[in-house]
Amino acid sequence: MSMMTGKDYIDSLRALSPEIYFLGKRIKSVVDEPMFQPHIHAAAMTYELAHDPEHQEIMAATSHVTGEKINRFTHVHQSIDDLVKKVRMMRLMGQKTATCFQRCVGLDGLCAVYATTYDIDQKYGTTYHERFKNYLREVQKHDWMPSGAMTDSRGDRSLRPSKQVHPDVYLHIKERLEDGIIVTGAKTHITGAINSHEIITMPTRTMAEEDKDYALSFAIPADTKGVTYVFSRQTNDTRRLDGTLDAGNPKYGIVGGEAMIIFNDVFVPWERVFMAGEYDFTTELVETFAGYHRSNYGGCKVGLADVVIGGSAWIAETHGIGRVSHIVDKLTEMIAMAETCWSCTLACSYEGYKTPSGAYHINPLLANVVKLNITRMVYEWMRIAQDIAGGKIITLPSEKDLAHPEVGKMVEECFYGKDGIAPMDIIRMLRLIENMSVGAGLPEAMHGAGSPAAQKIMISRRSGIDKKMELAKRIAGLSPDTDFERIIGKSEKAHWDQVRRNMQEKKVQIY
Ligand code: SF4
Repeated sequence: MSMMTGKDYIDSLRALSPEIYFLGKRIKSVVDEPMFQPHIHAAAMTYELAHDPEHQEIMAATSHVTGEKINRFTHVHQSIDDLVKKVRMMRLMGQKTATCFQRCVGLDGLCAVYATTYDIDQKYGTTYHERFKNYLREVQKHDWMPSGAMTDSRGDRSLRPSKQVHPDVYLHIKERLEDGIIVTGAKTHITGAINSHEIITMPTRTMAEEDKDYALSFAIPADTKGVTYVFSRQTNDTRRLDGTLDAGNPKYGIVGGEAMIIFNDVFVPWERVFMAGEYDFTTELVETFAGYHRSNYGGCKVGLADVVIGGSAWIAETHGIGRVSHIVDKLTEMIAMAETCWSCTLACSYEGYKTPSGAYHINPLLANVVKLNITRMVYEWMRIAQDIAGGKIITLPSEKDLAHPEVGKMVEECFYGKDGIAPMDIIRMLRLIENMSVGAGLPEAMHGAGSPAAQKIMISRRSGIDKKMELAKRIAGLSPDTDFERIIGKSEKAHWDQVRRNMQEKKVQIY
């Protein structure tokens, strides 16, 4: 099987038995746990749309390692066209789910480890890349969803990993054996962790020589012995147990269903280890992954913006103010911001380049600009969505009151808008806007794929400020302008001497 449907994916999770805890209880079946279902449905959409003839061109790809048709979420980009199709896929998926569909983190992990293992082998003569290609074949063959586990809990951030009082705040190698390694530590807020088939780990930061045991990347099945998950809470999460109305997006949920992954003396066979001590390649791996993932945000979040803009416009229409000038102006603002982010992410893909491994990478400077814009503009377009929707989005009665035999009908009638629109439909749309604009989606836009400070560091490092100073010096006349000298056919000095002489002669003539 190389491409699962959404239903196949959900069924495939039944074959795994990860150790998961949530709200103080051990969860026996991921698929049957009502709190997890929206996240599973959102991830299932990444499978289902690959079978839809209308979307196949962007949702599916041809594997460069097997020649088989595969889901694009398992494809290592082989061209600029692949990079562009990836962000188109992100926007489409955002439009279809209005939330985080999770599978991109593993995809970016696959692409980043692919390029980095190639470079490690070039320097050290290791065989990581071949190992990784074998792993990639398996991922593509089974259409697995790996979670991308990068962020460690990091303890005292002023100290290097090897200097921490509690060594397990960074995932690390505890023991090297003949047939593999024993690892221990934890990764935190990992998107889609509990409903993934596999885990791919990557270091969270640049490592130095003394941190060799922390310079680590590997992949293991999600239910490997010694791996424990603790699922995070989200805003209003238990509303999904109350019915279909109050949750706002009951089918697909809100953000990515993050979890902690705790590794307690976990054995990883060598064939699944892709970095084990090559600390001098940790920067490359971290930055390559971060670049891919930051560029995604101009796709997925813009897909979400399409939904919330549509919802806001519909609410305004149903209240009879759809054509009022300040509403049109606000909707236009939202659209312009969303399309600005989209333009950034397209540019970042079109400005991509081929790495020595043959895989294509996005433009890292522009990827960081994409994500920095997202950390601001998502808040801004969601603020406008709240403005248009009105105070109702935070004062709506519950589904239970609307269904109450005594008051239900009276409450519902308070929500009449334009004649012919069912009040329950208005309430449903307001709940969706509440879900998207009030909850966990906002801090997720801020911190997912790295916080704004991380993007600013990368933008500052890659902006070429020295080159910009040279440009300014040339225009200000502090350094030679050879183009100008060619245009005028003489040296700048000779030119300005001549100009001065002409001016003086003119002065004599005039006065
Ligand atoms: Fe994918 Fe966006 Fe979710 Fe990241 S935030 S995993 S890019 S959908």
